[in-house]
Amino acid sequence: MTARIIDGKAIASELRARVGEEVARVQREHNLTPGLAVVLVGSDPASQVYVRSKHKQTQAAGMASFEHVLPAEIGQSDLLALIGSLNRDPAVHGILVQLPLPKSLHTETIINAIDPAKDVDGLHPNNAGRLAGGFVALSPCTPLGCIMLTKTVHASLEGMNAIVIGRSNLVGRPLLQLLLNENATVTIAHSRSRDLPQLCAGADLVYAAVGKPEMVRGDWIKPGATVIDVGINRLADAGGKTRLVGDVAFAEASKVAGAITPVPGGVGQMTVACLLVNTLRAACAIAGLPKPRV
Ligand code: NAP
Repeated sequence: MTARIIDGKAIASELRARVGEEVARVQREHNLTPGLAVVLVGSDPASQVYVRSKHKQTQAAGMASFEHVLPAEIGQSDLLALIGSLNRDPAVHGILVQLPLPKSLHTETIINAIDPAKDVDGLHPNNAGRLAGGFVALSPCTPLGCIMLTKTVHASLEGMNAIVIGRSNLVGRPLLQLLLNENATVTIAHSRSRDLPQLCAGADLVYAAVGKPEMVRGDWIKPGATVIDVGINRLADAGGKTRLVGDVAFAEASKVAGAITPVPGGVGQMTVACLLVNTLRAACAIAGLPKPRV
């Protein structure tokens, strides 16, 4: 069997186009321009790339983009003051603080200071708790993208056996909740789990969010399963160049799976597109408008 490749790049591009159409509609019908504020502290090169890409894609979707680049030495109270002013700013509907923050700052306190209605990263405990309770919530973007990619293969996930490998607050835990909301039967695995190959063997849906290059092998995968690889790992090759690989051994797994996401070109592309979706949803909710059609 050769797996169908789930083209995250094309799917994300279609999603961004749909967001752009909905943004134009809410502007036309309600005079509302969704606005996203991204806060970057310090000069981590990977974070700078992510923030630039978010800025470009936010503007391309017709939304307002506000960038706040702050020195790594900024004090906690100054950062909290900025978040307070973004919470009060009516032009801002989404606030994202780029992680990781420098060690001098207390991440939990900063995230908890964001107005949950503007928490487009879905990390505020109100949103995490609402998601866990099965209520409407702003959900973290990467797991949201994983579900959307899965639904390009399976219209319904009801009754399917899913395994999520990884239990971070950013990916694994919210993905577990989103899968439960889709009525999948979910196993969540982590570094203390026993016999991962055996746990994967019964899974129709495999989500790998571990951060270990090519850890999930082809012979772990049930024939025909759908494999969503969240991992982004940079490996140096013999010539000193680097390449990106996922948490799944793609060459092996793609011979067994029914459908699989590549790295790059899979989940990563969906994360920023889902940030735009969350910002549009937050703007409509804050304005008391119905949920947008994305
Ligand atoms: P994380 O916070 O480091 O969490 C990793 C999880 O994997 C933990 O729950 C850990 O278990 C588990 N784990 C570690 N070693 C394991 C093993 N040998 N067997 C089973 N489970 C193991 O990472 P994360 O933020 O969730 O990110 C995971 C990966 O996704 C990374 O490669 C990251 O770069 C990537 N990522 C991609 C995107 C995107 O847009 N595509 C977004 C976010 C993250 P314990 O809890 O027991 O320690």
